[in-house]
Amino acid sequence: MGDDPASRIYVNNKKKACEYCGIRSFEYALPGDTTQEELMDLIEKLNGDDSVDGILCQLPIPKHLDEKAVINAIRPDKDVDAFHPANVGKIMIGDYDFLPCTPAGVMELIRESGIDIAGKECVVIGRSNIVGKPMAMLLLHAHGTVTICHSKTKDLAETVRRADIVVAAVGVPELITGDMIKEGAVVIDVGMNRLPDKKLVGDVAFESAAKKASAITPVPGGVGPMTIAMLMKNTVKAALVHHENK
Ligand code: NAD
Repeated sequence: MGDDPASRIYVNNKKKACEYCGIRSFEYALPGDTTQEELMDLIEKLNGDDSVDGILCQLPIPKHLDEKAVINAIRPDKDVDAFHPANVGKIMIGDYDFLPCTPAGVMELIRESGIDIAGKECVVIGRSNIVGKPMAMLLLHAHGTVTICHSKTKDLAETVRRADIVVAAVGVPELITGDMIKEGAVVIDVGMNRLPDKKLVGDVAFESAAKKASAITPVPGGVGPMTIAMLMKNTVKAALVHHENK
């Protein structure tokens, strides 16, 4: 919705991934002055459309619109972003259909790299509903000992220094520096921050952190592509469920 340049890039990348996987995608690029009613009508139409298995509304939406109402309106079994409260609740109890794409992508990276989470000190920096909170929950389900840091955390550096696995999802360029990383730690950088010179950097100062880490994700090219891959996975899962229920 509207003309957010970052959203444009994300939507284009998602459309490209759909094409690559053989998933049909329908884009509804709504103008910035769309009313709540028009948006809700579109969601209702897609909720009832049997040719649509997954729906996502690229956030943020313009300020005059009610984001919460939009998230609540998407049918939970088509909610491939897993933001609907029904899906969030299921994640909490560990009995889920869809996982939110970014935390799911991080888990996939850790597992595919053969890193065992059980018993490890995991520090998640950031407590957003989209990344930080579900991330912490997934690490907990994998038997990590999890600490969540946020804007009011007293001694961030000291807490991060304890971590065997660090996940940074803050939105502050290069906040996490090499001196905060324990020797051999695994460092996952979710952050995507555009500097004034247009350079894209993460929440981790890559060069200094890489000297200490046993494994580290770059920005770009780390968590970002995994997020899109997990969106495809959720969409295929939704399609299979709908097919079985037909
Ligand atoms: P958000 O702004 O909703 O949340 C940021 C969190 O960081 C908050 O919980 C806040 O308490 C915490 N925080 C802020 N300043 C802090 C500080 N100085 N010390 C400790 N904690 C602090 O952001 P979000 O939506 O969770 O996104 C975080 C970052 O991840 C952004 O850079 C965003 O662009 C990026 N992101 C990337 C992907 C991807 O696919 N790679 C997906 C979603 C978000």
